[in-house]
Amino acid sequence: MIKLLLVEDDQKEALVIKKMLKEGLQNQFTLEHSLSVSGALDLVKKHPFQAIILDLHLPDGKSFESIPQFIQYCPGAPILILSGVEDEERAIQAVKSGAQDYLIKGQTSSSTLCRAIRYAMERHRATQRITQLAHYDHLTGLANRGLFYERLNCAVARCNRNDTAIALIFLDLDHFKEINDTLGHDCGDSLLKTVATRVKKCIREIDTGVRLGGDEFAVLLEQIISVEDVASVAQRILHLLAQPVIVNQHQLHVTGSLGITIYPWDSANPQELLSHADAAMYRAKAQGGNTYQFYTAGMKTAGLDGSTLEVELRRALTKQEFLLHYQPQFDFATKQVIGMEALLRWHHPYQGLVGPNHFIPQAEENGMIIPIGEWVLRAASKQAKYWEKQGFPAPRVAVNLSARQIHQGNLPALILDILQSSHLDPENLKLELTETFLIHETDETLQTLREIKAMGVHLYIDDFGAGYASLRYLKSFPVDGIKLDQSLIHHLPHNSNDAAIVDAIISLGKAMGLQVIAEGVETQEQADFLEEHGCDAMQGYWVAPPLPANESAQHMVHTCSR
Ligand code: C2E
Ligand code: CA
Ligand code: CA
Repeated sequence: MIKLLLVEDDQKEALVIKKMLKEGLQNQFTLEHSLSVSGALDLVKKHPFQAIILDLHLPDGKSFESIPQFIQYCPGAPILILSGVEDEERAIQAVKSGAQDYLIKGQTSSSTLCRAIRYAMERHRATQRITQLAHYDHLTGLANRGLFYERLNCAVARCNRNDTAIALIFLDLDHFKEINDTLGHDCGDSLLKTVATRVKKCIREIDTGVRLGGDEFAVLLEQIISVEDVASVAQRILHLLAQPVIVNQHQLHVTGSLGITIYPWDSANPQELLSHADAAMYRAKAQGGNTYQFYTAGMKTAGLDGSTLEVELRRALTKQEFLLHYQPQFDFATKQVIGMEALLRWHHPYQGLVGPNHFIPQAEENGMIIPIGEWVLRAASKQAKYWEKQGFPAPRVAVNLSARQIHQGNLPALILDILQSSHLDPENLKLELTETFLIHETDETLQTLREIKAMGVHLYIDDFGAGYASLRYLKSFPVDGIKLDQSLIHHLPHNSNDAAIVDAIISLGKAMGLQVIAEGVETQEQADFLEEHGCDAMQGYWVAPPLPANESAQHMVHTCSR
């Protein structure tokens, strides 16, 4: 059934049209008839039609000017204009202002009328589809960035006219990348769809839900009366997000970090809204995520680079912005987790969670690695002690050491102090040293390592195979094991060159009584290859990504089925 609306003041004409429709559409339609523009507008406000037939001459006139209103209230319906011969010029103009087609009275047969209607509907649907694609996110159906800016501009204009306020909520999912990396893009996509549905449930008809890209969403709330209203929407979003999501038989828990800014209260410049909301969102992230923050002045400062970095790192230490994530090391023989590598993270107040590659090289240069490295050692030892006390089966932590730390002179004394103050069994502390340590091999370095080893701490050579992979170091240094560099694992088992090198390193390592741990293992195939070739343990996304301590500990308890 096609739902039609006829707007025609001349009853005789209307009867002619009805007759033609009956003939051409074989009763496959319903028709409502209005004698005036205002009456017709009332009708379209009540319910949608699939096509509107509009006479160009109506008593309350201006059918021409009313076209935009019909489009606004009934965007799904194409408009067909009925005109006389003498009005063809105006009819063409009507098409230019949004009507789909025009028909000239007296020259129109039943079949041309009905064909015109069908054709107009089809073309209208296609145009709408194109607009949809240009304005909406394919995956979630939410508004895209382009439409968001359009809506924002309109909202700002309305807001200025009516003296109201609008709120912009910026939403970024916590740890989405890890889910995507571990479970795959399909899971990631379904998750994003669920998030979109949930966000939509939290907002009103007049509000706009947006997917800005990746796992970033935004919500534009209009006609805001109080901050409390906005806060309650934010709370609703957080609450709905926190409900578990089942994707491909995985039960996922996602949370989000929300940053909120209100126009014109926070800034009279609409251009700044998104960056304010963004800064507030980073603050929410810095608090551990799953929370919202309103923007306050001063949330934005300089970036990470330049001389400010040293100042920022210093502040990060005093403000406790550093934290450790832990990645399990999984033993092939026992199918147990045998240790956790501590990987440093920085909860930067405006930039969110920053990975070590973004600041460790600079920290090594400006010397901040010394106090930061000490903090890492203390924090990881404390965590291991906690796991030890909780009775976890393998409460070992592996800590990365920078070359600079070993040359600081008092490293053995520092480690002893840390072991004593944390009461950690030295067996439960592993240190990972990169080859660069060993290149600058001196008697002093060797002496330092021997002292540390004598305490019972285990030493590993990290990134083995990335650079020199010289077995000379293995002979002269008191190490317990090596970690095969990710770059060697990446193309396993298909790259025969890498496969041969890995095989050789494993057998040599074993012959020397060293434990061999592969890192960056991402697939079952890689894990199988390593196990078959006698590798002792593995680490990588295939087992688990680096995660906050309590989450990672789950892997220690539930022995992996891998
Ligand atoms: P790394 O010691 O080689 O650590 C392993 C890195 O590989 C980590 O990056 C980890 O997140 C990542 N990774 C783990 N599994 C996989 C996988 O399956 N595939 C891929 N593609 N990557 C995987 P992250 O955490 O960004 O750390 C980067 C580097 O920063 C570390 O490399 C380490 O050299 C350094 N670092 C981290 N924490 C500390 C620290 O506390 N002190 C010092 N001095 N350096 C640290
Ligand atoms: Ca490492
Ligand atoms: Ca490595």
